Amino acid sequence: MNYKQALKHPIFKIISQSAEALGLESYVIGGFVRDYLLERRNAKDIDIVAVGSGIDLANKVAENLPTQPKVQVFKTYGTAMLRFDDIEIEFVGARKESYNEDSRNPVVENGTLEDDQNRRDFTINALALSLNEANYGELLDPFNGIEDLDKGIIRTPLNPDITYSDDPLRMMRAIRFATQLSFKIEDNSLKSISKNKDRIKIITKERIVVELNKILESDKPSIGFKLLENTRLLDYILPELTALKGIDEIEGQRHKDNFYHTLEVVDNIAKTTDNLWLRWAALLHDIGKAPTKKFHKKIGWTFHAHEFVGSKMVYKLFKRLKMPLNDKMKFVQKMVLMSSRPIVLATEVTDSAVRRLVFDAGEHVDDLMTLCEADITTKNPKKFEKYHNNFKRVRDKIIEVEERDRVRDFQPPVSGEEIMKAFNLRPSREIGIIKEAIKEAILEGEIPNEHDAAFQLMLEKGKSLGLKAVGV
Ligand code: ATP
Repeated sequence: MNYKQALKHPIFKIISQSAEALGLESYVIGGFVRDYLLERRNAKDIDIVAVGSGIDLANKVAENLPTQPKVQVFKTYGTAMLRFDDIEIEFVGARKESYNEDSRNPVVENGTLEDDQNRRDFTINALALSLNEANYGELLDPFNGIEDLDKGIIRTPLNPDITYSDDPLRMMRAIRFATQLSFKIEDNSLKSISKNKDRIKIITKERIVVELNKILESDKPSIGFKLLENTRLLDYILPELTALKGIDEIEGQRHKDNFYHTLEVVDNIAKTTDNLWLRWAALLHDIGKAPTKKFHKKIGWTFHAHEFVGSKMVYKLFKRLKMPLNDKMKFVQKMVLMSSRPIVLATEVTDSAVRRLVFDAGEHVDDLMTLCEADITTKNPKKFEKYHNNFKRVRDKIIEVEERDRVRDFQPPVSGEEIMKAFNLRPSREIGIIKEAIKEAILEGEIPNEHDAAFQLMLEKGKSLGLKAVGV
């Protein structure tokens, strides 16, 4: 088959001519070809294989481009990269690889296009289009990747045991592609992932997280997490989640399976937000339930303070996975900590409770509501509608209260300095007490969030503390 139409972009002709000038064969391979055939997005990454030196080819292409871009060379890997328009083009010399037990970095020799296709992870990623004049645009597909694309199958070109054991990151990649593309991992491959799961230990946490993030960013992340669970990779990567599996029953009382519940919540939130960190919050919102689970004869199953315990676990989990311990982590912690707050509210929506929610959640109150809405997984349509309507009322109330009281980004209407001046005080405990009383009165709706009303309350509170106002 010829796919010249995939190579419309002028860059391909320039690569082709540069390779001819050097007397090399060149091919587009991997993600670009796969995504073109899937009609998936306009690829911004193009991988080029040269039978010969990829670095030489990159340099030649740069010379021939009107923009004369800089070529970034990675000597150790024998690869080079340049940018043209907003496309990143990576060049590699065709190679043959062999692996050692304890590393995913292979021993490399020069090879043919077929050798290079053999070292690719999946049949659908080994598809290549020729850039050579003689057969420009021809599809080179030694493993029938095109059929796997049609049927939606992830399959390794060689024996999966070898492919996964050589480079165990491929196990994560298989699951990630299955999730992104809604493909099925072929049976032998899936068995092989289960068999080789312990090899994941040689992969750095950072690389695992890249794949986890891509799974979470997919339309239906549960596909990936179920595969991670089935193959038992999840035990190693996120044991906090596998600990949520199962339903206990004591004296006829059961609780829900919090693992599958969590996956439903993640799928729900994937429909309403692209915010990766909010998706992480959905994934982790119930992790405190495993360590806090208790059975009480009178009230049944409880998960006392699981939100608090869960938010502490978030820090440890991020640290273990070498994820950023910055404001993103704090955001996830806050979402987990507050994840049950609007639920309590949904039964009785009072102004003061909503004000407190907005005050505590601050700028993240909308994200928190999005999380709580995703948390509604009841299969009872009446309840489903009722809970959603309640949250709709909470959202309306948030807008109403916020317009009036502006507590989202709360600034005390009377400053500490003003209090000190009014009572001729040095920095002291009383100032904190008065400020707290003003804040409480505003949140309770006893006074409006305004200077004069707050000043009046300050005077009263000061008096009750035995303070004397000066010059008022
Ligand atoms: P995406 O851009 O969605 O991640 P991609 O297929 O372009 O998809 P890259 O990581 O950019 O992914 O890899 C480019 C190509 O390199 C792949 O299509 C595949 O042929 C090959 N490849 C990447 N990683 C591996 C690996 N661990 N083992 C074997 N081949 C790989």
